[in-house]
Amino acid sequence: MSNTAENGHGTVIVTGASRGIGAAIATELGEAGYGVVVNYSSHEEPAEDVVEGIRSHDGRAIAVHADVSVPDEVTEMFERAERELGPLTALVNNAGMTGAPAPFDAQEPGDLSRLMAINVLGAMECARHAVRSMSTSHGGRGGSIVNMASVAAHTGGLPGLVPYTATKGALVAFSRALSNEVAPEGIRVNSVSPGLIATDMTAVLMTPETKEAVATTPIRRMGRPEEIADTVTWLLSPAASFVTGTDITVSGGR
Ligand code: NAP
Repeated sequence: MSNTAENGHGTVIVTGASRGIGAAIATELGEAGYGVVVNYSSHEEPAEDVVEGIRSHDGRAIAVHADVSVPDEVTEMFERAERELGPLTALVNNAGMTGAPAPFDAQEPGDLSRLMAINVLGAMECARHAVRSMSTSHGGRGGSIVNMASVAAHTGGLPGLVPYTATKGALVAFSRALSNEVAPEGIRVNSVSPGLIATDMTAVLMTPETKEAVATTPIRRMGRPEEIADTVTWLLSPAASFVTGTDITVSGGR
């Protein structure tokens, strides 16, 4: 695959980069030489801290507010990214939420719609903009997209999180389908499926079932956000230039 974006860094948008896995990805990509958009939805201060951390290592980064489920805000984020940091070469669709755990028949339709809007439609809308910017058939340099799925998509996930698990399965299928379409345009698309990673998201899910899931993970611990960031950085790099349409599970063997 010819992909000129992979010969040099350029600009990456990392959605949901104020905290947790996204913050680790943004930090690592900033240190690797990308100009980084540190996207956040509601927590501006930690997003600015991530930016500060990247700049303190002579990197380039800006914090940009956008709720990924609001198309106008996504459009503005992509415009600002290219205006302030230069042509886009990568997108990491990391923003996501679990929704409140509950039996499936107790889930409210409004909550299901919100979950789909953020985890699935938001990622699709960001990917749509990224393809338009990066596609060699639109004059772009090519590039790479990583969608943050979950090992839940493969195992069925934790109790009470059926809708969340379904959104992550959708991202795996979306990544595979999109990768076929845009490979000839110089764009690689992959997904990453983390196991249980120690972040704010899992801190509120520490039920006996979750503790049991950690205890029965072959590696016997939760993962660190940096362990997901390492995989994403590799997927975006020239070292992964022949890797597209795949899902990489990073789960301690779960
Ligand atoms: P987290 O600590 O809860 O952080 C979530 C991030 O997403 C925050 O930066 C948040 O921004 C952002 N976000 C939420 N809704 C958003 C929206 N509508 N628009 C833009 N940004 C939004 O989560 P995490 O554990 O790091 O998880 C990151 C991703 O990995 C998620 O997609 C999650 O499903 C996936 N994942 C996590 C685990 C795990 O064990 N932690 C396992 C598998 C997959 P604000 O700070 O502004 O709210």
